[in-house]
Amino acid sequence: MRNLIIILLLLSFALPKANAASRANVAPDAPKRVVVIDAGHGGVRPGKVHRDVVEKSYVLDVSKEVRKMLRTKMPDLQVYLSRSCDSAYHETQSADNRLRAEFCNKVGADLYVGIHANAHKDKTVNGCEVWVLTLNEKLMNQNKYVGAMYADDGDFINPEDIDRNSQSFMVALSRQLENEPYSRFFADECCKNMASYGLKNLGVKAGTVYTVLYYSECPGAIVELGYLTNDKDYAYLTSKNAKKEMATAVCNAIVTYFKTLDGGRDGDSKAEGTEQSEEASAGADAASAEELTEGYAIQLISSAKEVNTSDSQFKSYKGRVWLVMGSGSYKYKYCYGKYTSREAAKDDLAEARKSFKDAYVIKFRNGAVVNN
Ligand SMILES: [Zn+2]
Repeated sequence: MRNLIIILLLLSFALPKANAASRANVAPDAPKRVVVIDAGHGGVRPGKVHRDVVEKSYVLDVSKEVRKMLRTKMPDLQVYLSRSCDSAYHETQSADNRLRAEFCNKVGADLYVGIHANAHKDKTVNGCEVWVLTLNEKLMNQNKYVGAMYADDGDFINPEDIDRNSQSFMVALSRQLENEPYSRFFADECCKNMASYGLKNLGVKAGTVYTVLYYSECPGAIVELGYLTNDKDYAYLTSKNAKKEMATAVCNAIVTYFKTLDGGRDGDSKAEGTEQSEEASAGADAASAEELTEGYAIQLISSAKEVNTSDSQFKSYKGRVWLVMGSGSYKYKYCYGKYTSREAAKDDLAEARKSFKDAYVIKFRNGAVVNN
């Protein structure tokens, strides 16, 4: 134990403070804040299934709604969905969770928000709760998530399987010590907002070591919207406005989080005259030009000669279009957005086709079209 304390002390001096510094008030020209909304499960893993509700579909709807709301309420925020269709990251649950965390780290997220719905074998259990990561030994052993099946469930890491002397644990612990107050602030806001729609507030919970939170480098939380197995929660969650209300609760917690963090550096982005229409801000989760050298984009038009990207033919995308070089006579491909997955690009394709009916998704690497 003494060794552990010494290593931790060393780490606290040796580790760069970039994260902490970037989480304090930032300069007006600082890069955009980034949030990842992670709709739980997907593909072969449905999550909780109760009567006609399948968790993976329910939480995807809520996640998409959160993104849509954020585009209007906080247009300066870069919003990524971990998935925008019914897909999994990996066939094994543990790898799937690690890949979600890696996605979060790759896009440089400032906040991770996992969205789930709950279930319990005791049908009287109800309410909303939000989980954060702690590696406090006492909490980990006392406050396990009731649904945790440590033996075979890759959503969680069994505390007994963690080598407390490994470097990866030291890094995770150091990160958690720094991130936990931020995660708790967001989680608490989220709980209060959800409870304002009538759900019982079960509050912020910590203890279960969620795989995705363990490997994410930024503050984050797992939002559990309510218990599908409880009649009262089920009636609410399947009511007409529930998805929109839950999305509002999460969205407002994210807005409060970033505004508190940045001391209003972006002012009131909903101020009159600055609010962007959903169409104009469509593709807000497309990364900025510097961020990705490889990925997917939406090709709006191709041309035999060079065109100014601020040309009026690009309509609402004017000034936000970038050039990808292809082959053949129409080698100038004018594209919009940079996405880390084909699915994410496809999510914005319908919007692009309203103005460019032949728009489609291409893959690029270092400014050129590639086939794979
Ligand atoms: Zn879930």
